[in-house]
Amino acid sequence: MFAQHLLTMADSFRTSDIHILPEQKHYDIYFRLNGQMDKQFYLDREEGSRLISYFKYRSNMDVGEKRRPQSGSMTFHLKEKAVDLRFSTISNYQSQESLVIRLLKQKDANQQEIGAFFRYEWEVLKKLVDAKSGLLLFAGPVDSGKTTTMYHLVKNRLDGEKQQVITVEDPVEIEEVTFLQTQVNETAGISYEHLLKSSLRHHPDVIIVGEIRDEETAKMVMRGALTGHLIVASIHAKNCRGVISRLLELGISQTILEQTLIGVAFQNLIPLYCSLCESNCQTYCSHYPRDQKRAALFEVKTGAPLKDWFNTNCSESANNQKGQRDFNHLLEKVKMYGYISEKTYHRYLISNQ
Ligand SMILES: [Zn+2]
Repeated sequence: MFAQHLLTMADSFRTSDIHILPEQKHYDIYFRLNGQMDKQFYLDREEGSRLISYFKYRSNMDVGEKRRPQSGSMTFHLKEKAVDLRFSTISNYQSQESLVIRLLKQKDANQQEIGAFFRYEWEVLKKLVDAKSGLLLFAGPVDSGKTTTMYHLVKNRLDGEKQQVITVEDPVEIEEVTFLQTQVNETAGISYEHLLKSSLRHHPDVIIVGEIRDEETAKMVMRGALTGHLIVASIHAKNCRGVISRLLELGISQTILEQTLIGVAFQNLIPLYCSLCESNCQTYCSHYPRDQKRAALFEVKTGAPLKDWFNTNCSESANNQKGQRDFNHLLEKVKMYGYISEKTYHRYLISNQ
Protein backbone atom coordinates (compact mmCIF):
# COMPACT_ATOMS: atom_id res chain seq x y z
CA MET A 1 0.00 0.00 0.00
CA PHE A 2 1.37 3.38 -0.99
CA ALA A 3 0.69 5.17 2.33
CA GLN A 4 2.72 2.51 4.14
CA HIS A 5 5.55 2.78 1.63
CA LEU A 6 5.55 6.58 1.81
CA LEU A 7 5.72 6.69 5.60
CA THR A 8 8.34 3.94 5.82
CA MET A 9 10.54 5.85 3.42
CA ALA A 10 9.97 9.18 5.20
CA ASP A 11 10.79 7.52 8.50
CA SER A 12 14.00 5.98 7.19
CA PHE A 13 15.07 9.37 5.78
CA ARG A 14 14.23 10.88 9.17
CA THR A 15 12.29 13.65 7.52
CA SER A 16 10.01 15.71 9.73
CA ASP A 17 7.53 16.78 7.05
CA ILE A 18 5.86 15.27 4.00
CA HIS A 19 4.10 17.70 1.66
CA ILE A 20 1.48 16.46 -0.80
CA LEU A 21 0.92 19.37 -3.14
CA PRO A 22 -1.47 19.71 -6.08
CA GLU A 23 -0.18 20.89 -9.46
CA GLN A 24 -2.41 21.60 -12.47
CA LYS A 25 -2.87 17.96 -13.47
CA HIS A 26 -1.09 15.91 -10.83
CA TYR A 27 0.31 15.86 -7.29
CA ASP A 28 3.94 16.14 -6.22
CA ILE A 29 5.15 14.71 -2.94
CA TYR A 30 8.07 16.39 -1.22
CA PHE A 31 10.11 15.52 1.88
CA ARG A 32 11.69 18.28 3.89
CA LEU A 33 15.31 17.25 4.25
CA ASN A 34 17.98 19.52 5.72
CA GLY A 35 15.75 22.50 5.27
CA GLN A 36 15.20 21.83 1.56
CA MET A 37 12.09 20.51 -0.13
CA ASP A 38 13.05 17.39 -2.04
CA LYS A 39 10.66 15.97 -4.63
CA GLN A 40 10.17 12.24 -4.05
CA PHE A 41 7.00 11.10 -5.85
CA TYR A 42 4.68 12.02 -8.66
CA LEU A 43 1.04 10.93 -8.45
CA ASP A 44 -1.70 11.50 -10.97
CA ARG A 45 -4.67 13.53 -9.86
CA GLU A 46 -6.81 10.53 -8.98
CA GLU A 47 -4.07 8.83 -6.90
CA GLY A 48 -3.17 12.05 -5.15
CA SER A 49 -6.66 12.92 -4.03
CA ARG A 50 -7.28 9.30 -3.00
CA LEU A 51 -4.18 9.41 -0.80
CA ILE A 52 -5.29 12.67 0.81
CA SER A 53 -8.79 11.28 1.44
CA TYR A 54 -7.26 8.17 2.99
CA PHE A 55 -5.19 10.16 5.47
CA LYS A 56 -8.12 12.47 6.22
CA TYR A 57 -10.29 9.47 6.98
CA ARG A 58 -7.66 7.80 9.18
CA SER A 59 -7.05 10.98 11.18
CA ASN A 60 -10.77 11.66 11.80
CA MET A 61 -11.12 14.64 9.50
CA ASP A 62 -14.26 15.33 7.51
CA VAL A 63 -13.44 13.65 4.17
CA GLY A 64 -16.20 15.48 2.27
CA GLU A 65 -15.06 18.92 3.43
CA LYS A 66 -12.51 20.28 0.98
CA ARG A 67 -12.66 24.04 1.45
CA ARG A 68 -12.09 24.61 5.14
CA PRO A 69 -8.60 23.93 6.47
CA GLN A 70 -8.57 20.91 8.78
CA SER A 71 -6.16 19.22 11.11
CA GLY A 72 -5.94 15.77 12.63
CA SER A 73 -3.58 13.24 14.12
CA MET A 74 -3.04 9.49 14.34
CA THR A 75 -0.53 6.81 15.12
CA PHE A 76 0.47 4.79 12.07
CA HIS A 77 1.91 1.31 12.40
CA LEU A 78 4.87 0.56 10.18
CA LYS A 79 6.42 -2.90 10.00
CA GLU A 80 8.74 -2.45 12.93
CA LYS A 81 7.51 0.59 14.78
CA ALA A 82 4.72 3.09 15.20
CA VAL A 83 4.98 6.73 14.14
CA ASP A 84 2.94 9.61 15.51
CA LEU A 85 1.59 11.81 12.78
CA ARG A 86 -0.07 15.22 12.60
CA PHE A 87 -1.94 16.29 9.53
CA SER A 88 -3.13 19.60 8.18
CA THR A 89 -4.96 20.38 4.99
CA ILE A 90 -5.48 23.63 3.15
CA SER A 91 -7.16 24.28 -0.21
CA ASN A 92 -6.38 26.66 -3.00
CA TYR A 93 -9.12 28.77 -4.60
CA GLN A 94 -9.96 25.87 -6.96
CA SER A 95 -10.66 23.64 -3.95
CA GLN A 96 -7.60 21.52 -4.61
CA GLU A 97 -6.34 20.32 -1.29
CA SER A 98 -2.78 20.05 -0.14
CA LEU A 99 -1.80 17.94 2.83
CA VAL A 100 1.18 18.29 5.12
CA ILE A 101 2.11 15.36 7.35
CA ARG A 102 4.37 15.97 10.30
CA LEU A 103 6.24 12.97 11.66
CA LEU A 104 6.81 13.47 15.37
CA LYS A 105 9.77 12.27 17.37
CA GLN A 106 11.89 11.74 14.31
CA LYS A 107 14.83 12.63 16.44
CA ASP A 108 16.23 11.04 19.48
CA ALA A 109 18.54 13.08 21.64
CA ASN A 110 21.36 10.54 21.64
CA GLN A 111 21.56 10.24 17.89
CA GLN A 112 21.36 13.90 17.04
CA GLU A 113 24.76 15.51 16.92
CA ILE A 114 25.14 19.22 16.95
CA GLY A 115 27.68 20.25 14.37
CA ALA A 116 28.50 23.82 15.30
CA PHE A 117 30.75 26.06 13.21
CA PHE A 118 32.42 27.49 16.32
CA ARG A 119 33.35 25.74 19.53
CA TYR A 120 33.46 28.95 21.58
CA GLU A 121 29.70 29.63 21.68
CA TRP A 122 28.94 25.99 22.44
CA GLU A 123 31.30 26.07 25.45
CA VAL A 124 29.68 29.27 26.72
CA LEU A 125 26.24 27.63 26.46
CA LYS A 126 27.48 24.55 28.32
CA LYS A 127 28.60 26.73 31.21
CA LEU A 128 25.31 28.66 31.24
CA VAL A 129 23.20 25.54 31.44
CA ASP A 130 25.05 24.50 34.59
CA ALA A 131 23.48 27.40 36.50
CA LYS A 132 21.29 26.49 39.46
CA SER A 133 18.57 28.91 38.49
CA GLY A 134 17.68 31.60 36.00
CA LEU A 135 16.46 31.83 32.45
CA LEU A 136 18.35 30.82 29.30
CA LEU A 137 16.60 31.74 26.06
CA PHE A 138 16.94 30.53 22.49
CA ALA A 139 15.66 32.27 19.40
CA GLY A 140 15.87 31.30 15.77
CA PRO A 141 13.59 30.49 12.82
CA VAL A 142 11.44 27.35 12.54
CA ASP A 143 13.66 24.30 11.86
CA SER A 144 16.80 25.96 13.18
CA GLY A 145 17.49 23.18 15.67
CA LYS A 146 16.54 25.03 18.87
CA THR A 147 14.91 21.99 20.47
CA THR A 148 17.88 19.76 19.64
CA THR A 149 20.23 22.33 21.17
CA MET A 150 18.18 22.68 24.35
CA TYR A 151 17.95 18.91 24.81
CA HIS A 152 21.65 18.41 24.20
CA LEU A 153 22.70 21.08 26.64
CA VAL A 154 20.42 19.82 29.41
CA LYS A 155 21.58 16.22 28.87
CA ASN A 156 25.12 17.51 29.07
CA ARG A 157 24.33 19.16 32.41
CA LEU A 158 23.03 15.90 33.85
CA ASP A 159 26.06 13.91 32.70
CA GLY A 160 24.61 10.70 34.12
CA GLU A 161 23.59 12.31 37.42
CA LYS A 162 19.92 12.11 38.50
CA GLN A 163 18.13 15.44 38.27
CA GLN A 164 14.52 16.12 37.50
CA VAL A 165 13.96 17.65 34.11
CA ILE A 166 10.43 18.47 32.93
CA THR A 167 9.66 19.58 29.42
CA VAL A 168 6.54 21.48 28.34
CA GLU A 169 6.11 21.33 24.59
CA ASP A 170 3.67 21.56 21.71
CA PRO A 171 4.29 18.92 20.42
CA VAL A 172 7.09 16.78 21.89
CA GLU A 173 9.57 16.42 19.02
CA ILE A 174 12.42 14.45 20.49
CA GLU A 175 12.09 11.37 22.62
CA GLU A 176 14.22 11.46 25.77
CA VAL A 177 13.54 8.88 28.47
CA THR A 178 15.45 10.68 31.22
CA PHE A 179 13.15 13.74 30.97
CA LEU A 180 9.51 13.94 32.03
CA GLN A 181 8.02 15.17 28.76
CA THR A 182 4.62 16.84 28.73
CA GLN A 183 2.61 18.08 25.81
CA VAL A 184 0.12 20.91 25.36
CA ASN A 185 -3.33 19.78 24.31
CA GLU A 186 -5.55 22.78 23.62
CA THR A 187 -8.65 20.74 22.82
CA ALA A 188 -8.42 19.01 26.20
CA GLY A 189 -7.85 22.40 27.83
CA ILE A 190 -4.21 21.69 28.72
CA SER A 191 -2.29 24.86 27.93
CA TYR A 192 1.34 25.86 28.32
CA GLU A 193 0.35 27.82 31.39
CA HIS A 194 -1.35 24.81 33.02
CA LEU A 195 1.53 22.48 32.39
CA LEU A 196 4.07 25.00 33.61
CA LYS A 197 2.12 25.61 36.79
CA SER A 198 1.98 21.89 37.59
CA SER A 199 5.62 21.43 36.59
CA LEU A 200 6.68 24.09 39.10
CA ARG A 201 4.85 22.23 41.85
CA HIS A 202 7.15 19.28 41.19
CA HIS A 203 10.19 21.45 41.98
CA PRO A 204 12.29 20.13 39.11
CA ASP A 205 15.91 21.15 38.61
CA VAL A 206 15.35 22.17 35.00
CA ILE A 207 12.28 23.00 32.94
CA ILE A 208 12.46 23.13 29.16
CA VAL A 209 9.72 25.27 27.63
CA GLY A 210 9.01 24.65 23.94
CA GLU A 211 7.95 28.21 23.27
CA ILE A 212 7.07 31.32 25.23
CA ARG A 213 4.24 32.64 23.13
CA ASP A 214 1.87 34.49 25.43
CA GLU A 215 1.85 36.68 28.52
CA GLU A 216 0.69 33.95 30.89
CA THR A 217 3.51 31.62 29.85
CA ALA A 218 6.05 34.45 30.06
CA LYS A 219 4.96 35.35 33.60
CA MET A 220 5.02 31.73 34.73
CA VAL A 221 8.50 31.26 33.27
CA MET A 222 9.74 34.30 35.19
CA ARG A 223 8.18 32.99 38.38
CA GLY A 224 9.94 29.67 37.91
CA ALA A 225 13.28 31.32 37.22
CA LEU A 226 12.93 33.53 40.31
CA THR A 227 12.10 30.60 42.58
CA GLY A 228 15.25 28.59 42.08
CA HIS A 229 14.71 26.68 38.83
CA LEU A 230 16.74 26.75 35.68
CA ILE A 231 14.41 27.41 32.77
CA VAL A 232 15.58 26.83 29.23
CA ALA A 233 13.09 28.12 26.69
CA SER A 234 12.67 29.23 23.14
CA ILE A 235 10.99 32.43 22.06
CA HIS A 236 10.17 33.95 18.71
CA ALA A 237 12.57 36.75 17.76
CA LYS A 238 14.66 37.55 14.74
CA ASN A 239 17.88 38.14 16.60
CA CYS A 240 19.36 38.08 20.11
CA ARG A 241 18.30 41.59 20.91
CA GLY A 242 14.77 40.97 19.65
CA VAL A 243 14.35 38.50 22.53
CA ILE A 244 14.42 41.33 25.06
CA SER A 245 11.91 43.46 23.15
CA ARG A 246 9.64 40.46 22.76
CA LEU A 247 9.64 39.80 26.52
CA LEU A 248 8.95 43.47 27.27
CA GLU A 249 6.09 43.25 24.77
CA LEU A 250 4.73 40.24 26.70
CA GLY A 251 4.48 42.40 29.78
CA ILE A 252 7.68 41.38 31.59
CA SER A 253 9.38 44.27 33.36
CA GLN A 254 12.99 45.13 32.75
CA THR A 255 13.79 44.66 36.44
CA ILE A 256 12.49 41.08 36.39
CA LEU A 257 14.43 40.40 33.20
CA GLU A 258 17.64 41.67 34.75
CA GLN A 259 17.10 39.40 37.72
CA THR A 260 16.36 36.25 35.75
CA LEU A 261 18.02 36.29 32.35
CA ILE A 262 21.42 34.59 32.37
CA GLY A 263 21.88 34.26 28.62
CA VAL A 264 20.34 34.69 25.20
CA ALA A 265 21.25 32.69 22.12
CA PHE A 266 20.22 33.08 18.53
CA GLN A 267 20.82 30.12 16.24
CA ASN A 268 20.31 29.01 12.70
CA LEU A 269 21.23 25.88 10.74
CA ILE A 270 23.22 26.82 7.68
CA PRO A 271 23.69 24.58 4.62
CA LEU A 272 27.29 23.66 3.89
CA TYR A 273 28.90 24.30 0.54
CA CYS A 274 29.97 21.08 -1.16
CA SER A 275 32.70 21.06 -3.80
CA LEU A 276 31.21 17.97 -5.49
CA CYS A 277 27.74 19.49 -5.78
CA GLU A 278 29.25 22.92 -6.51
CA SER A 279 26.46 24.30 -4.32
CA ASN A 280 24.82 23.36 -1.03
CA CYS A 281 25.25 19.62 -0.57
CA GLN A 282 22.29 17.79 -2.14
CA THR A 283 20.30 14.92 -0.61
CA TYR A 284 21.88 12.06 -2.55
CA CYS A 285 25.48 13.32 -2.46
CA SER A 286 27.68 11.36 -0.08
CA HIS A 287 30.23 14.09 0.60
CA TYR A 288 28.47 15.07 3.81
CA PRO A 289 26.30 12.47 5.64
CA ARG A 290 22.58 13.04 5.21
CA ASP A 291 22.08 14.55 8.66
CA GLN A 292 25.21 16.69 8.55
CA LYS A 293 24.61 18.84 5.50
CA ARG A 294 23.99 21.83 7.72
CA ALA A 295 25.86 23.22 10.70
CA ALA A 296 24.68 25.44 13.53
CA LEU A 297 25.76 29.03 13.92
CA PHE A 298 25.18 30.60 17.33
CA GLU A 299 25.34 34.08 18.70
CA VAL A 300 25.36 34.04 22.49
CA LYS A 301 25.00 37.03 24.77
CA THR A 302 25.70 36.77 28.46
CA GLY A 303 27.44 38.71 31.25
CA ALA A 304 28.51 42.28 30.57
CA PRO A 305 27.28 42.56 26.95
CA LEU A 306 23.84 41.36 28.07
CA LYS A 307 23.83 43.90 30.92
CA ASP A 308 24.74 46.62 28.44
CA TRP A 309 21.53 45.97 26.58
CA PHE A 310 19.53 46.84 29.64
CA ASN A 311 21.48 49.99 30.21
CA THR A 312 20.83 51.27 26.72
CA ASN A 313 17.32 51.49 25.42
CA CYS A 314 16.40 48.14 23.88
CA SER A 315 14.62 49.66 20.93
CA GLU A 316 17.73 51.64 19.99
CA SER A 317 19.74 50.44 17.06
CA ALA A 318 22.51 48.11 18.13
CA ASN A 319 24.84 49.29 15.41
CA ASN A 320 26.89 51.40 17.74
CA GLN A 321 28.01 48.40 19.75
CA LYS A 322 28.52 45.65 17.23
CA GLY A 323 30.46 42.86 18.86
CA GLN A 324 33.09 40.63 17.36
CA ARG A 325 30.95 37.54 17.83
CA ASP A 326 27.65 38.83 16.49
CA PHE A 327 25.76 36.50 14.21
CA ASN A 328 26.48 38.40 11.00
CA HIS A 329 30.14 38.74 11.82
CA LEU A 330 30.47 35.00 12.47
CA LEU A 331 28.53 34.26 9.30
CA GLU A 332 31.01 36.33 7.33
CA LYS A 333 33.90 34.39 8.89
CA VAL A 334 32.26 31.10 7.89
CA LYS A 335 31.95 32.38 4.34
CA MET A 336 35.57 33.48 4.27
CA TYR A 337 36.68 30.03 5.39
CA GLY A 338 34.74 28.63 2.42
CA TYR A 339 32.25 26.60 4.47
CA ILE A 340 29.24 28.26 2.86
CA SER A 341 28.50 29.85 -0.50
CA GLU A 342 28.14 33.55 -1.17
CA LYS A 343 24.44 33.00 -1.92
CA THR A 344 23.90 31.20 1.39
CA TYR A 345 25.74 34.00 3.18
CA HIS A 346 23.31 36.59 1.86
CA ARG A 347 20.33 34.42 2.54
CA TYR A 348 21.16 33.88 6.21
CA LEU A 349 22.39 37.38 7.02
CA ILE A 350 20.23 39.04 9.67
CA SER A 351 18.91 42.38 8.47
CA ASN A 352 19.42 45.41 10.75
CA GLN A 353 21.07 43.42 13.47
ZN1 LIG B 1 27.47 17.31 -2.08
